Amino acid sequence: MNFISNPHIKLGILGGGQLGKMMLLSTANYDVYTKVLDPDPHCSSAPFCSEFVQGSFNDYQTVIDFGKDCQYLTVEIEHVNTDALHTLKSMGVEVHPDPAVLEVIKDKGRQKEFYREKGIKTSDFQWVEGPDEIVRLVKEGSLVFPFVQKTRTAGYDGKGVKMVRNEEDLHHLLAGPSVVEVAVPIKKELAVIVAQSDATPGIVAFDVVDMEFNPQANLVEFLYSPANVSQHIKDQAVSLAKSVLQGFNNRGLLAVELFLDEQDELWVNEVAPRPHNSGHHTIDANVTSQFEQHWRSVLNLPLGDVTQHSPAVMVNILGEPGYEGPVTYEGWSDAMNHKGVKMHVYGKKTTKPFRKMGHFTVISDTLDEAISIARNVKNKLKVVS
Ligand code: ADP
Repeated sequence: MNFISNPHIKLGILGGGQLGKMMLLSTANYDVYTKVLDPDPHCSSAPFCSEFVQGSFNDYQTVIDFGKDCQYLTVEIEHVNTDALHTLKSMGVEVHPDPAVLEVIKDKGRQKEFYREKGIKTSDFQWVEGPDEIVRLVKEGSLVFPFVQKTRTAGYDGKGVKMVRNEEDLHHLLAGPSVVEVAVPIKKELAVIVAQSDATPGIVAFDVVDMEFNPQANLVEFLYSPANVSQHIKDQAVSLAKSVLQGFNNRGLLAVELFLDEQDELWVNEVAPRPHNSGHHTIDANVTSQFEQHWRSVLNLPLGDVTQHSPAVMVNILGEPGYEGPVTYEGWSDAMNHKGVKMHVYGKKTTKPFRKMGHFTVISDTLDEAISIARNVKNKLKVVS
């Protein structure tokens, strides 16, 4: 297959957010012809694709019309119309992630069931209809504090996840069908991004990373790569991630989020079949970025070299609490004036509290030095309105 500068080979992407934009910056490098579907004509990806289509990726007919002239189709968001993807696949479009895999992953209940069936270590869980059933199970004694409630669909970035520690928390449960799972006593949250392609033997894994969460927003604030854990734990994490990918047997990236508990045991939390926040540093710190690796795998091309050339810290730049509306960035040029800092601005027109507006990566000779620069830069930046 010759894809270079070939307008007859189109890669369609459902979703036009920042993940799509960063993927497009990498496809541009190889002159891959791209087409993006998003409801917002001002989305982050729109200025960077070869063709932009305004429309809903949740609407069956819109997705069919969008995808039928693409040879390859992928996503940058899980919540898309998978019935349309099944139809497109039957029409001969190469859809990666596979629509059936996407259906399992986008339902947190089915995803947990998949791990149980495959014997992959994940915290114990059960499906519930909603808050009433949770309260009943607690009263009966078959559900004990602390546990975590997750709505089965439509949650992201910590929305749709509720830690339930006591009776009081039972008054603030989330509505709708959910999965309730045992709360893992987390020491660290790790992630591994893996990919496969027929053109490269085996599964290729990026280095294990270590993520620190913003407790208020429940999303990643600092990411450290390489992770500060023993080689033994890294090896276990990579082998666990590979076994999840073997289970799904999917093309395109699989980002595997893991918990390391107080006893140094690893548990699979969840996966994303696309580029992921845990791989943003790879743009600046690795030979091949996660974004390039994703489309290489989707197009069944040889996978890239994932060697990381420097320790890296990635920091999400979040909308400041208390501000909502047209975006203004404070302290930007000062932040750019630091050694080893690469800024990435997503181009969203409006900010709101904790919205992901950009990120920066610090690369340095040592992780400690990168951490100290990252903390300094973070303190100077504010996204307001
Ligand atoms: P999202 O898809 O919205 O990111 P996650 O399932 O990753 O949701 O959960 C968000 C965060 O909630 C996790 O990163 C972790 O900090 C916490 N969490 C989720 N599940 C558990 C669990 N079983 N035990 C302890 N903490 C959990």
